[in-house]
Amino acid sequence: MQKKWVGQLLMGLGLSFAVSVNVMAASEVDEYCKKIALKLASVSYDACRAAKYTIYKTRSVENAPLIMKEFKPAANVKAPKVLFLGGVHGDEYSSVSATFKWLKALESHHSGKFHWLFLPVVNPDGLLRDSSRRVNAKGVDLNRNFPPYGDKQAASLEYWNRVTKKDPRRFPGDVPMSEPETQAMVDIIESFKPDVIVSVHAPFDLLDFDGATDADAPKKLGPLELQLLGTYPGSLGNYAWLKLKIPVLTLELPSSEVMPVQKELDSIWMDLVSWLRDDLPKTRLASNSSALQSATMKN
Ligand SMILES: [Zn+2]
Repeated sequence: MQKKWVGQLLMGLGLSFAVSVNVMAASEVDEYCKKIALKLASVSYDACRAAKYTIYKTRSVENAPLIMKEFKPAANVKAPKVLFLGGVHGDEYSSVSATFKWLKALESHHSGKFHWLFLPVVNPDGLLRDSSRRVNAKGVDLNRNFPPYGDKQAASLEYWNRVTKKDPRRFPGDVPMSEPETQAMVDIIESFKPDVIVSVHAPFDLLDFDGATDADAPKKLGPLELQLLGTYPGSLGNYAWLKLKIPVLTLELPSSEVMPVQKELDSIWMDLVSWLRDDLPKTRLASNSSALQSATMKN
């Protein structure tokens, strides 16, 4: 554990993101932007094309691209690394639309103080079907398909059977990481080594936080107020925080269909950036010391 943290700290000192990506033929990105713009009225085809997304090496079950956009820090800046995920659930349109809006704003206002990596549409197959749905093309809830914390690989499936009574919207897959979209996220998390992950969902109108202590969480991001929900086996928070000690901010927008108005989007963003600037460094120190402490106790 200790060794791993030293490695993570070293990686955190501004080294560039090394995950290999295929710079896509522009025409494929164009085609993909066209589909997104047809699906989501708030996403403009021209703005999507202009963002010049790259495509991750792993694709969705139905071979859709996983588009990504990196904003590198200024040279010689020890910038916190932020992984930003939208559209993990395909029927939460607002999470994709809002992520595109924030990404577009960042194109004009990137300060170089943070190292951002955006994946605005993690579940393209769920989103781009005629009737969008939460789960991916194989009926798996990607936010239950991560490796669960603890020794039991079957924990997610057991939880699904016992607690959700086999809710098809929350099927974790037969085994953890069975889905290429989840594999992509895990690969990206392990290679990019974010200091924090921001994941946008809807429609519960709150902010959830998985991290060292409740006190480290932002009390609010714009109109979204902190309400700690805990984690489920196979969820991103369970994997990233409990397993890897990477804090996760989950933004639950108030509506799946309707994006917050611009003023609210702006206030969420301003509060997020303030927290990243002022409080994330403390949170990371707390995480590191608790990880080191537990490593020491195990020794
Ligand atoms: Zn969701």
